[in-house]
Amino acid sequence: MRQDFAKWFLHPGDVSQTTYRALMEKAMVLVSDQSKKRVQPFSGTSREKIHSNVKEILSISEGVQDIDKVMDEIDKGIVNDSLWISHPSSMAHLHCPPLLPSLAAEVLLNALNQSMDSWDQSPAATYVEAELIKFFTKKIGYTSDGDGTFTAGGTQSNYMGMLLARNKACNTYFSVLVQKEGLPAEARKLRILCSEHAHFTVQKSASQLGLGSDAVVKVETNNKRQLCIENAKKKIRQLREQGLIPFMVVATAGTTDFGSIDPLKELAKLSNEEQLWLHVDAAYGGALLFSHQYSHLVSGLCLADSITIDFHKLYYQTISCGAFFVKNKEDFLQIAYHADYLNPEQDQEKGIINLVEKSVQTTKRFDALKLLMTFKLVGTELFGEMVDYTIDLAKKTADMLKEDPFFEVHNDPELNAVIFRYRPLICQNQKNADEINQEIQRYFYQSGELIMAKTKENGKVFLKFTMLNPLNTIENMRMHIERIRQAGEKFEKTQGEIQNECSVYNESSYRTESN
Ligand SMILES: *Cc1c(COP(=O)(O)O)cnc(C)c1O
Repeated sequence: MRQDFAKWFLHPGDVSQTTYRALMEKAMVLVSDQSKKRVQPFSGTSREKIHSNVKEILSISEGVQDIDKVMDEIDKGIVNDSLWISHPSSMAHLHCPPLLPSLAAEVLLNALNQSMDSWDQSPAATYVEAELIKFFTKKIGYTSDGDGTFTAGGTQSNYMGMLLARNKACNTYFSVLVQKEGLPAEARKLRILCSEHAHFTVQKSASQLGLGSDAVVKVETNNKRQLCIENAKKKIRQLREQGLIPFMVVATAGTTDFGSIDPLKELAKLSNEEQLWLHVDAAYGGALLFSHQYSHLVSGLCLADSITIDFHKLYYQTISCGAFFVKNKEDFLQIAYHADYLNPEQDQEKGIINLVEKSVQTTKRFDALKLLMTFKLVGTELFGEMVDYTIDLAKKTADMLKEDPFFEVHNDPELNAVIFRYRPLICQNQKNADEINQEIQRYFYQSGELIMAKTKENGKVFLKFTMLNPLNTIENMRMHIERIRQAGEKFEKTQGEIQNECSVYNESSYRTESN
Protein backbone atom coordinates (compact mmCIF):
# COMPACT_ATOMS: atom_id res chain seq x y z
CA MET A 1 0.00 0.00 0.00
CA ARG A 2 1.37 3.38 -0.93
CA GLN A 3 1.67 5.34 2.30
CA ASP A 4 1.20 8.66 0.54
CA PHE A 5 -2.18 7.38 -0.73
CA ALA A 6 -3.05 5.76 2.56
CA LYS A 7 -2.67 9.00 4.42
CA TRP A 8 -5.74 10.42 2.70
CA PHE A 9 -8.31 7.64 3.16
CA LEU A 10 -9.89 5.94 6.13
CA HIS A 11 -8.22 2.66 6.94
CA PRO A 12 -6.87 0.95 10.06
CA GLY A 13 -3.26 2.05 9.59
CA ASP A 14 -1.60 4.68 11.73
CA VAL A 15 -1.08 7.24 8.94
CA SER A 16 -4.79 7.28 8.23
CA GLN A 17 -5.79 7.49 11.88
CA THR A 18 -3.32 10.28 12.56
CA THR A 19 -4.36 12.36 9.59
CA TYR A 20 -8.08 11.83 10.19
CA ARG A 21 -7.83 12.83 13.81
CA ALA A 22 -5.56 15.80 13.06
CA LEU A 23 -7.90 17.16 10.40
CA MET A 24 -11.06 16.63 12.40
CA GLU A 25 -9.48 18.05 15.53
CA LYS A 26 -8.30 21.13 13.62
CA ALA A 27 -11.71 21.67 12.06
CA MET A 28 -13.43 21.19 15.41
CA VAL A 29 -11.11 23.54 17.29
CA LEU A 30 -11.49 26.10 14.54
CA VAL A 31 -15.30 25.99 14.87
CA SER A 32 -15.30 26.12 18.63
CA ASP A 33 -12.77 28.99 18.68
CA GLN A 34 -14.87 30.89 16.17
CA SER A 35 -17.98 30.43 18.22
CA LYS A 36 -16.14 31.83 21.25
CA LYS A 37 -14.76 34.84 19.47
CA ARG A 38 -17.64 35.78 17.18
CA VAL A 39 -19.13 38.74 19.00
CA GLN A 40 -21.03 39.74 15.89
CA PRO A 41 -22.51 37.82 12.97
CA PHE A 42 -20.26 39.30 10.29
CA SER A 43 -16.73 40.65 10.09
CA GLY A 44 -17.76 43.62 7.96
CA THR A 45 -14.89 42.95 5.55
CA SER A 46 -15.54 44.50 2.13
CA ARG A 47 -16.61 42.39 -0.81
CA GLU A 48 -13.46 43.25 -2.73
CA LYS A 49 -11.24 42.22 0.15
CA ILE A 50 -13.09 38.92 0.67
CA HIS A 51 -12.80 38.12 -3.01
CA SER A 52 -9.08 38.83 -3.13
CA ASN A 53 -8.48 36.78 0.04
CA VAL A 54 -10.33 33.85 -1.46
CA LYS A 55 -8.40 34.11 -4.70
CA GLU A 56 -5.19 34.03 -2.74
CA ILE A 57 -6.19 30.89 -0.88
CA LEU A 58 -7.14 29.29 -4.17
CA SER A 59 -3.62 29.34 -5.45
CA ILE A 60 -3.51 25.56 -5.73
CA SER A 61 -0.12 24.00 -6.18
CA GLU A 62 0.81 20.54 -7.35
CA GLY A 63 2.40 19.53 -4.12
CA VAL A 64 1.24 18.77 -0.60
CA GLN A 65 0.59 21.75 1.64
CA ASP A 66 1.03 21.80 5.37
CA ILE A 67 -2.18 21.03 7.29
CA ASP A 68 -1.65 23.77 9.89
CA LYS A 69 -0.97 26.34 7.21
CA VAL A 70 -3.97 25.39 5.10
CA MET A 71 -6.35 25.30 8.05
CA ASP A 72 -5.04 28.65 9.21
CA GLU A 73 -5.63 30.18 5.77
CA ILE A 74 -9.15 28.77 5.70
CA ASP A 75 -9.82 30.13 9.16
CA LYS A 76 -8.61 33.62 8.37
CA GLY A 77 -9.71 33.97 4.76
CA ILE A 78 -12.96 32.02 4.69
CA VAL A 79 -14.39 31.18 8.09
CA ASN A 80 -13.65 34.62 9.54
CA ASP A 81 -15.51 36.32 6.73
CA SER A 82 -18.41 33.91 6.71
CA LEU A 83 -21.75 34.86 8.10
CA TRP A 84 -21.88 33.39 11.60
CA ILE A 85 -25.36 32.02 11.39
CA SER A 86 -25.38 30.83 15.00
CA HIS A 87 -25.18 34.42 16.23
CA PRO A 88 -28.59 35.62 17.47
CA SER A 89 -28.18 38.90 15.58
CA SER A 90 -28.01 37.07 12.28
CA MET A 91 -31.65 37.25 11.27
CA ALA A 92 -32.06 38.03 7.61
CA HIS A 93 -33.44 34.91 6.02
CA LEU A 94 -34.98 31.55 6.83
CA HIS A 95 -31.50 30.35 7.53
CA CYS A 96 -31.08 28.63 10.85
CA PRO A 97 -28.43 28.10 13.49
CA PRO A 98 -27.75 24.35 13.36
CA LEU A 99 -28.29 22.18 16.42
CA LEU A 100 -25.19 20.46 17.77
CA PRO A 101 -26.55 16.91 17.20
CA SER A 102 -26.94 17.83 13.55
CA LEU A 103 -23.26 18.83 13.40
CA ALA A 104 -22.18 15.59 15.03
CA ALA A 105 -24.40 13.59 12.70
CA GLU A 106 -22.74 15.27 9.72
CA VAL A 107 -19.39 13.91 10.87
CA LEU A 108 -20.82 10.41 10.92
CA LEU A 109 -22.85 10.53 7.75
CA ASN A 110 -19.99 12.11 5.83
CA ALA A 111 -17.60 9.40 6.94
CA LEU A 112 -20.06 6.61 6.22
CA ASN A 113 -20.91 8.26 2.90
CA GLN A 114 -23.96 6.08 2.42
CA SER A 115 -25.87 6.64 -0.76
CA MET A 116 -29.58 6.35 -0.21
CA ASP A 117 -30.59 5.17 -3.68
CA SER A 118 -30.39 1.41 -3.25
CA TRP A 119 -30.49 -0.81 -0.19
CA ASP A 120 -27.18 -2.45 -0.97
CA GLN A 121 -25.45 0.94 -0.66
CA SER A 122 -27.10 1.91 2.60
CA PRO A 123 -28.27 -1.21 4.41
CA ALA A 124 -28.99 0.41 7.80
CA ALA A 125 -29.42 3.97 6.57
CA THR A 126 -32.26 2.96 4.23
CA TYR A 127 -34.29 1.83 7.25
CA VAL A 128 -33.43 4.97 9.20
CA GLU A 129 -34.85 7.10 6.41
CA ALA A 130 -37.85 4.82 5.90
CA GLU A 131 -38.70 4.72 9.62
CA LEU A 132 -38.27 8.48 10.05
CA ILE A 133 -40.58 9.04 7.11
CA LYS A 134 -43.10 6.78 8.86
CA PHE A 135 -42.64 8.73 12.09
CA PHE A 136 -43.44 11.94 10.21
CA THR A 137 -46.39 10.62 8.21
CA LYS A 138 -47.90 9.59 11.55
CA LYS A 139 -47.18 12.97 13.10
CA ILE A 140 -48.78 14.65 10.08
CA GLY A 141 -51.84 12.50 10.60
CA TYR A 142 -51.66 10.43 7.41
CA THR A 143 -52.86 6.83 7.43
CA SER A 144 -50.48 3.96 6.71
CA ASP A 145 -50.98 4.82 3.01
CA GLY A 146 -48.81 7.90 3.53
CA ASP A 147 -45.21 7.90 2.41
CA GLY A 148 -42.33 10.25 1.70
CA THR A 149 -38.71 10.77 0.85
CA PHE A 150 -35.87 12.95 2.06
CA THR A 151 -34.96 15.73 -0.36
CA ALA A 152 -32.36 18.44 -0.75
CA GLY A 153 -34.90 21.06 0.34
CA GLY A 154 -38.12 22.89 -0.40
CA THR A 155 -37.33 23.62 -4.02
CA GLN A 156 -36.99 19.93 -4.78
CA SER A 157 -39.98 18.96 -2.65
CA ASN A 158 -42.26 21.49 -4.33
CA TYR A 159 -41.00 20.33 -7.69
CA MET A 160 -41.87 16.76 -6.78
CA GLY A 161 -45.37 17.68 -5.66
CA MET A 162 -46.02 19.44 -8.93
CA LEU A 163 -44.41 16.65 -10.95
CA LEU A 164 -46.64 13.97 -9.41
CA ALA A 165 -49.74 16.16 -9.73
CA ARG A 166 -48.98 16.99 -13.36
CA ASN A 167 -48.48 13.35 -14.31
CA LYS A 168 -51.63 12.32 -12.55
CA ALA A 169 -53.64 15.11 -14.21
CA CYS A 170 -52.40 14.16 -17.67
CA ASN A 171 -53.44 10.61 -17.00
CA THR A 172 -56.87 11.63 -15.67
CA TYR A 173 -57.75 14.28 -18.24
CA PHE A 174 -55.93 13.11 -21.38
CA SER A 175 -55.22 9.41 -20.71
CA VAL A 176 -51.55 10.12 -21.30
CA LEU A 177 -48.71 8.59 -19.31
CA VAL A 178 -46.33 11.53 -19.28
CA GLN A 179 -43.54 9.47 -17.80
CA LYS A 180 -43.50 7.40 -20.97
CA GLU A 181 -45.16 9.45 -23.69
CA GLY A 182 -44.19 12.96 -22.73
CA LEU A 183 -46.51 15.90 -22.42
CA PRO A 184 -49.57 16.02 -24.69
CA ALA A 185 -50.44 19.26 -26.49
CA GLU A 186 -53.52 19.70 -24.29
CA ALA A 187 -51.23 20.08 -21.27
CA ARG A 188 -51.15 23.75 -22.23
CA LYS A 189 -54.56 24.00 -20.64
CA LEU A 190 -53.43 22.89 -17.20
CA ARG A 191 -53.50 25.51 -14.45
CA ILE A 192 -52.11 25.67 -10.92
CA LEU A 193 -53.46 28.00 -8.27
CA CYS A 194 -51.46 29.48 -5.43
CA SER A 195 -51.52 32.67 -3.43
CA GLU A 196 -49.62 35.75 -4.44
CA HIS A 197 -47.29 35.07 -1.48
CA ALA A 198 -46.46 31.50 -2.48
CA HIS A 199 -42.80 30.66 -2.98
CA PHE A 200 -41.28 31.48 -6.39
CA THR A 201 -40.38 27.83 -6.87
CA VAL A 202 -44.02 27.17 -7.78
CA GLN A 203 -43.52 29.14 -11.00
CA LYS A 204 -40.01 27.85 -11.45
CA SER A 205 -41.23 24.25 -11.22
CA ALA A 206 -44.11 24.96 -13.60
CA SER A 207 -41.64 26.23 -16.16
CA GLN A 208 -39.31 23.28 -15.66
CA LEU A 209 -42.23 20.86 -15.93
CA GLY A 210 -43.17 22.07 -19.37
CA LEU A 211 -46.33 23.82 -18.18
CA GLY A 212 -44.82 27.27 -18.30
CA SER A 213 -44.87 29.84 -15.54
CA ASP A 214 -48.03 31.30 -17.09
CA ALA A 215 -49.80 28.15 -15.93
CA VAL A 216 -49.57 29.47 -12.37
CA VAL A 217 -52.58 31.57 -11.44
CA LYS A 218 -52.13 33.85 -8.46
CA VAL A 219 -55.01 34.00 -6.01
CA GLU A 220 -55.57 37.14 -3.96
CA THR A 221 -54.81 37.17 -0.24
CA ASN A 222 -56.61 38.71 2.71
CA ASN A 223 -55.14 41.25 5.12
CA LYS A 224 -53.34 38.42 6.94
CA ARG A 225 -51.78 37.43 3.62
CA GLN A 226 -53.62 34.14 3.53
CA LEU A 227 -55.04 32.77 0.32
CA CYS A 228 -58.60 34.00 -0.15
CA ILE A 229 -60.97 31.08 -0.68
CA GLU A 230 -63.66 33.19 -2.37
CA ASN A 231 -61.14 34.52 -4.84
CA ALA A 232 -59.84 31.01 -5.48
CA LYS A 233 -63.39 29.86 -6.29
CA LYS A 234 -63.83 32.78 -8.65
CA LYS A 235 -60.51 32.11 -10.39
CA ILE A 236 -61.40 28.42 -10.81
CA ARG A 237 -64.76 29.36 -12.31
CA GLN A 238 -63.16 31.80 -14.71
CA LEU A 239 -60.53 29.29 -15.78
CA ARG A 240 -63.15 26.65 -16.49
CA GLU A 241 -65.18 29.17 -18.49
CA GLN A 242 -62.13 29.76 -20.65
CA GLY A 243 -61.84 26.02 -21.29
CA LEU A 244 -58.76 25.72 -19.10
CA ILE A 245 -58.14 22.94 -16.57
CA PRO A 246 -57.25 23.88 -13.00
CA PHE A 247 -55.75 20.69 -11.56
CA MET A 248 -53.76 21.76 -8.54
CA VAL A 249 -53.61 24.16 -5.61
CA VAL A 250 -50.37 24.93 -3.84
CA ALA A 251 -51.11 26.21 -0.35
CA THR A 252 -48.40 27.63 1.86
CA ALA A 253 -48.03 26.88 5.57
CA GLY A 254 -45.61 29.62 6.50
CA THR A 255 -44.91 31.98 3.64
CA THR A 256 -41.26 32.87 3.27
CA ASP A 257 -41.81 36.59 3.68
CA PHE A 258 -44.49 36.77 6.38
CA GLY A 259 -44.96 33.31 7.83
CA SER A 260 -48.65 33.43 6.99
CA ILE A 261 -50.53 30.15 6.83
CA ASP A 262 -53.20 29.55 4.20
CA PRO A 263 -56.57 28.14 5.37
CA LEU A 264 -55.63 24.49 4.87
CA LYS A 265 -58.96 22.91 5.83
CA GLU A 266 -61.01 25.16 3.59
CA LEU A 267 -58.57 24.58 0.77
CA ALA A 268 -58.81 20.84 1.28
CA LYS A 269 -62.59 21.07 1.03
CA LEU A 270 -62.38 23.17 -2.12
CA SER A 271 -59.81 20.81 -3.65
CA ASN A 272 -62.12 17.93 -2.95
CA GLU A 273 -65.08 19.62 -4.57
CA GLU A 274 -63.10 20.76 -7.59
CA GLN A 275 -60.99 17.60 -7.98
CA LEU A 276 -57.70 19.43 -7.46
CA TRP A 277 -54.44 18.06 -6.10
CA LEU A 278 -53.65 19.91 -2.89
CA HIS A 279 -49.96 20.41 -2.23
CA VAL A 280 -48.99 22.20 0.98
CA ASP A 281 -45.67 23.95 0.99
CA ALA A 282 -44.82 23.72 4.68
CA ALA A 283 -41.09 24.20 4.08
CA TYR A 284 -41.13 26.69 6.92
CA GLY A 285 -44.29 26.01 8.94
CA GLY A 286 -43.75 22.25 9.04
CA ALA A 287 -41.91 22.68 12.34
CA LEU A 288 -45.21 23.62 13.99
CA LEU A 289 -46.03 19.90 14.05
CA PHE A 290 -44.00 19.77 17.28
CA SER A 291 -45.07 23.14 18.67
CA HIS A 292 -46.90 23.08 22.01
CA GLN A 293 -48.82 26.27 21.33
CA TYR A 294 -49.20 26.55 17.58
CA SER A 295 -49.58 23.03 16.19
CA HIS A 296 -53.29 23.71 15.56
CA LEU A 297 -52.18 26.04 12.74
CA VAL A 298 -51.04 23.02 10.73
CA SER A 299 -53.66 20.52 11.82
CA GLY A 300 -55.01 20.51 8.26
CA LEU A 301 -51.76 19.13 6.83
CA CYS A 302 -53.10 15.57 6.81
CA LEU A 303 -55.71 16.61 4.24
CA ALA A 304 -53.07 17.48 1.65
CA ASP A 305 -52.24 15.14 -1.23
CA SER A 306 -48.59 16.09 -0.83
CA ILE A 307 -46.45 18.15 1.54
CA THR A 308 -43.10 19.90 1.57
CA ILE A 309 -41.21 20.17 4.85
CA ASP A 310 -37.73 21.64 5.21
CA PHE A 311 -35.57 20.56 8.10
CA HIS A 312 -32.85 23.10 7.38
CA LYS A 313 -35.17 25.92 8.40
CA LEU A 314 -37.16 25.81 11.62
CA TYR A 315 -35.97 22.29 12.45
CA TYR A 316 -32.44 23.66 12.94
CA GLN A 317 -30.69 21.10 10.76
CA THR A 318 -27.60 21.72 8.67
CA ILE A 319 -28.08 22.35 4.97
CA SER A 320 -29.28 20.36 3.14
CA CYS A 321 -32.17 18.54 4.77
CA GLY A 322 -35.78 18.37 3.68
CA ALA A 323 -38.58 15.97 2.90
CA PHE A 324 -41.52 15.42 0.59
CA PHE A 325 -44.62 13.51 1.68
CA VAL A 326 -47.63 12.03 -0.10
CA LYS A 327 -50.97 10.92 1.27
CA ASN A 328 -51.10 7.91 -1.07
CA LYS A 329 -47.89 6.04 -1.66
CA GLU A 330 -49.21 4.87 -5.04
CA ASP A 331 -48.62 8.36 -6.34
CA PHE A 332 -44.89 7.70 -6.32
CA LEU A 333 -45.47 5.21 -9.15
CA GLN A 334 -45.80 8.28 -11.37
CA ILE A 335 -42.03 8.65 -11.25
CA ALA A 336 -40.77 5.12 -10.57
CA TYR A 337 -38.10 3.65 -12.81
CA HIS A 338 -36.32 0.36 -12.58
CA ALA A 339 -32.66 0.10 -13.40
CA ASP A 340 -31.32 -3.40 -13.47
CA TYR A 341 -28.10 -2.46 -11.77
CA LEU A 342 -29.79 -0.49 -8.97
CA ASN A 343 -33.32 -1.52 -8.23
CA PRO A 344 -34.38 -4.49 -10.32
CA GLU A 345 -38.09 -5.33 -10.10
CA GLN A 346 -37.24 -8.66 -8.45
CA ASP A 347 -36.00 -6.67 -5.43
CA GLN A 348 -39.50 -5.43 -4.85
CA GLU A 349 -40.86 -8.96 -4.83
CA LYS A 350 -38.28 -9.89 -2.21
CA GLY A 351 -39.32 -6.93 -0.07
CA ILE A 352 -36.06 -5.03 -0.52
CA ILE A 353 -36.49 -1.26 -0.28
CA ASN A 354 -34.66 0.87 -2.82
CA LEU A 355 -35.39 4.50 -1.99
CA VAL A 356 -34.43 5.69 -5.48
CA GLU A 357 -37.94 4.77 -6.62
CA LYS A 358 -39.38 7.66 -4.66
CA SER A 359 -36.78 10.25 -5.49
CA VAL A 360 -35.79 12.53 -8.36
CA GLN A 361 -32.22 12.14 -7.13
CA THR A 362 -30.09 9.03 -7.49
CA THR A 363 -27.06 9.34 -5.21
CA LYS A 364 -28.49 10.93 -2.10
CA ARG A 365 -27.21 12.01 1.32
CA PHE A 366 -28.04 10.21 4.55
CA ASP A 367 -29.57 13.37 6.03
CA ALA A 368 -32.10 11.35 8.02
CA LEU A 369 -29.40 10.62 10.58
CA LYS A 370 -29.32 14.30 11.57
CA LEU A 371 -32.99 14.33 12.50
CA LEU A 372 -32.73 11.00 14.25
CA MET A 373 -29.87 12.22 16.44
CA THR A 374 -31.61 15.53 17.07
CA PHE A 375 -34.88 13.98 18.18
CA LYS A 376 -33.17 11.41 20.35
CA LEU A 377 -30.73 13.79 22.01
CA VAL A 378 -32.78 16.98 22.26
CA GLY A 379 -36.19 15.36 22.48
CA THR A 380 -39.30 16.52 20.64
CA GLU A 381 -40.61 18.23 23.80
CA LEU A 382 -37.72 20.68 24.08
CA PHE A 383 -37.57 21.09 20.32
CA GLY A 384 -41.21 22.21 20.37
CA GLU A 385 -40.40 24.69 23.12
CA MET A 386 -37.62 26.17 21.02
CA VAL A 387 -40.02 26.75 18.14
CA ASP A 388 -42.58 28.34 20.46
CA TYR A 389 -39.97 30.54 22.10
CA THR A 390 -38.87 32.03 18.78
CA ILE A 391 -42.43 32.74 17.68
CA ASP A 392 -43.26 34.38 20.99
CA LEU A 393 -40.11 36.46 20.79
CA ALA A 394 -41.08 37.69 17.32
CA LYS A 395 -44.52 38.67 18.64
CA LYS A 396 -42.97 40.54 21.57
CA THR A 397 -40.53 42.30 19.27
CA ALA A 398 -43.36 43.45 17.03
CA ASP A 399 -45.19 44.78 20.10
CA MET A 400 -42.11 46.65 21.19
CA LEU A 401 -41.76 48.25 17.76
CA LYS A 402 -45.43 49.20 17.72
CA GLU A 403 -45.02 51.19 20.89
CA ASP A 404 -42.20 53.19 19.35
CA PRO A 405 -43.33 56.18 17.24
CA PHE A 406 -40.18 55.88 15.16
CA PHE A 407 -41.32 52.60 13.69
CA GLU A 408 -44.07 51.35 11.49
CA VAL A 409 -44.82 47.62 11.85
CA HIS A 410 -46.17 45.89 8.81
CA ASN A 411 -47.43 42.63 10.26
CA ASP A 412 -48.56 40.82 13.34
CA PRO A 413 -46.10 37.94 13.19
CA GLU A 414 -47.73 34.58 12.71
CA LEU A 415 -44.37 32.83 12.88
CA ASN A 416 -40.92 34.42 13.18
CA ALA A 417 -40.92 37.31 10.73
CA VAL A 418 -41.18 40.90 11.88
CA ILE A 419 -41.53 43.38 9.03
CA PHE A 420 -41.12 46.99 9.94
CA ARG A 421 -39.57 50.23 8.88
CA TYR A 422 -37.99 53.25 10.38
CA ARG A 423 -40.34 56.16 10.18
CA PRO A 424 -38.67 59.48 9.50
CA LEU A 425 -40.33 61.95 11.78
CA ILE A 426 -38.27 64.92 10.73
CA CYS A 427 -39.05 64.88 7.09
CA GLN A 428 -42.09 62.82 6.22
CA ASN A 429 -41.26 62.10 2.67
CA GLN A 430 -42.00 58.71 1.18
CA LYS A 431 -38.90 58.65 -0.98
CA ASN A 432 -36.68 59.56 1.90
CA ALA A 433 -38.09 56.82 4.07
CA ASP A 434 -37.29 54.17 1.46
CA GLU A 435 -33.76 55.40 1.05
CA ILE A 436 -33.20 55.69 4.77
CA ASN A 437 -34.40 52.15 5.39
CA GLN A 438 -32.20 50.79 2.64
CA GLU A 439 -29.30 52.67 4.08
CA ILE A 440 -30.01 51.27 7.54
CA GLN A 441 -29.98 47.70 6.24
CA ARG A 442 -26.72 48.26 4.37
CA TYR A 443 -25.10 50.08 7.25
CA PHE A 444 -25.74 47.29 9.72
CA TYR A 445 -24.61 44.59 7.29
CA GLN A 446 -21.38 46.43 6.66
CA SER A 447 -20.80 47.05 10.34
CA GLY A 448 -21.42 43.33 10.84
CA GLU A 449 -23.35 43.78 14.07
CA LEU A 450 -26.85 43.07 12.80
CA ILE A 451 -27.92 41.15 9.73
CA MET A 452 -31.45 41.98 8.59
CA ALA A 453 -33.25 41.53 5.30
CA LYS A 454 -35.05 44.18 3.36
CA THR A 455 -38.22 43.65 1.45
CA LYS A 456 -40.74 45.68 -0.51
CA GLU A 457 -44.42 45.95 0.30
CA ASN A 458 -46.82 48.07 -1.72
CA GLY A 459 -43.82 49.83 -3.20
CA LYS A 460 -42.38 50.70 0.22
CA VAL A 461 -39.07 49.44 1.55
CA PHE A 462 -39.29 47.49 4.79
CA LEU A 463 -36.75 45.88 7.07
CA LYS A 464 -37.17 42.36 8.27
CA PHE A 465 -36.09 40.32 11.24
CA THR A 466 -36.41 36.57 10.72
CA MET A 467 -36.08 35.44 14.30
CA LEU A 468 -35.21 31.75 14.18
CA ASN A 469 -32.60 31.62 16.91
CA PRO A 470 -33.83 30.25 20.26
CA LEU A 471 -30.83 31.92 21.95
CA ASN A 472 -32.01 35.38 20.96
CA THR A 473 -33.51 37.52 23.73
CA ILE A 474 -35.83 40.47 24.06
CA GLU A 475 -32.93 42.48 25.54
CA ASN A 476 -30.91 41.87 22.39
CA MET A 477 -33.86 43.03 20.31
CA ARG A 478 -34.37 46.11 22.45
CA MET A 479 -30.75 47.07 21.90
CA HIS A 480 -30.98 46.56 18.14
CA ILE A 481 -34.13 48.61 17.88
CA GLU A 482 -32.49 51.43 19.78
CA ARG A 483 -29.44 51.24 17.48
CA ILE A 484 -31.64 51.22 14.38
CA ARG A 485 -33.50 54.27 15.63
CA GLN A 486 -30.21 56.09 16.22
CA ALA A 487 -28.94 55.17 12.77
CA GLY A 488 -32.25 56.21 11.21
CA GLU A 489 -32.10 59.60 12.88
CA LYS A 490 -28.55 60.08 11.70
CA PHE A 491 -29.31 59.15 8.09
CA GLU A 492 -32.42 61.25 8.12
CA LYS A 493 -30.42 64.21 9.22
CA THR A 494 -27.70 63.79 6.60
CA GLN A 495 -30.24 63.11 3.85
CA GLY A 496 -32.20 66.16 4.84
CA GLU A 497 -29.08 68.26 4.62
CA ILE A 498 -28.06 66.83 1.28
CA GLN A 499 -31.42 67.30 -0.35
CA ASN A 500 -32.17 70.49 1.51
CA GLU A 501 -35.71 69.30 1.98
CA CYS A 502 -35.67 69.44 5.73
CA SER A 503 -34.30 72.86 6.29
CA VAL A 504 -36.76 73.34 9.13
CA TYR A 505 -35.16 70.50 10.99
CA ASN A 506 -34.40 71.22 14.55
CA GLU A 507 -33.90 68.69 17.23
CA SER A 508 -36.43 70.00 19.74
CA SER A 509 -39.23 70.53 17.26
CA TYR A 510 -39.29 67.01 15.95
CA ARG A 511 -38.98 65.56 19.39
CA THR A 512 -42.26 67.18 20.38
CA GLU A 513 -43.77 66.16 17.08
CA SER A 514 -43.12 62.54 17.87
CA ASN A 515 -44.80 62.65 21.24
C1 LIG B 1 -37.36 28.14 1.71
C2 LIG B 1 -38.64 27.87 1.07
C3 LIG B 1 -38.71 27.10 -0.10
C4 LIG B 1 -37.46 26.64 -0.81
O1 LIG B 1 -36.79 25.70 -0.08
P1 LIG B 1 -35.22 25.42 -0.24
O2 LIG B 1 -34.96 24.50 0.89
O3 LIG B 1 -34.54 26.74 -0.12
O4 LIG B 1 -35.01 24.80 -1.56
C5 LIG B 1 -39.96 26.80 -0.59
N1 LIG B 1 -41.08 27.25 0.01
C6 LIG B 1 -41.05 28.00 1.12
C7 LIG B 1 -42.32 28.48 1.73
C8 LIG B 1 -39.82 28.34 1.69
O5 LIG B 1 -39.79 29.10 2.79
